[in-house]
Amino acid sequence: MKRILLVEDNEDNRDLVCALLEDQYLVEECKDAGEALQRLRNGHAEAQPDLLLLDISLPNMDGVELLQRIREDSQLARIPAVALTAHAMKDDGDRFRAAGFEGYVSKPIVDEELLFETIAGLLRRGNGNGP
Ligand code: MN
Repeated sequence: MKRILLVEDNEDNRDLVCALLEDQYLVEECKDAGEALQRLRNGHAEAQPDLLLLDISLPNMDGVELLQRIREDSQLARIPAVALTAHAMKDDGDRFRAAGFEGYVSKPIVDEELLFETIAGLLRRGNGNGP
């Protein structure tokens, strides 16, 4: 099973995303950027996530800055990342791509298929940690 690291400060959203994905993926949860960076920097290579699902609105360090830190780390830089955000502005997709996200899913998640397809599409591209 592929591994997904979910970083989301809202417990209800964490529970929802986990419930949607847990049949298909090994989902690990972090509630803020600090916890995520600690997890990623201390994780064994074979247990690193194949994909990151990052909430943008996080306390202390937002998802954009978190991804920047991840991209600066050569061990982690290639893990594909999907932005999860409640900011439903028209140009958000472009903004998040410019920040280095490969995909973008807006909250609330009303279209589960979009989430599934975004994740599956990125994992098929093989940017993660091997097969
Ligand atoms: Mn949030």
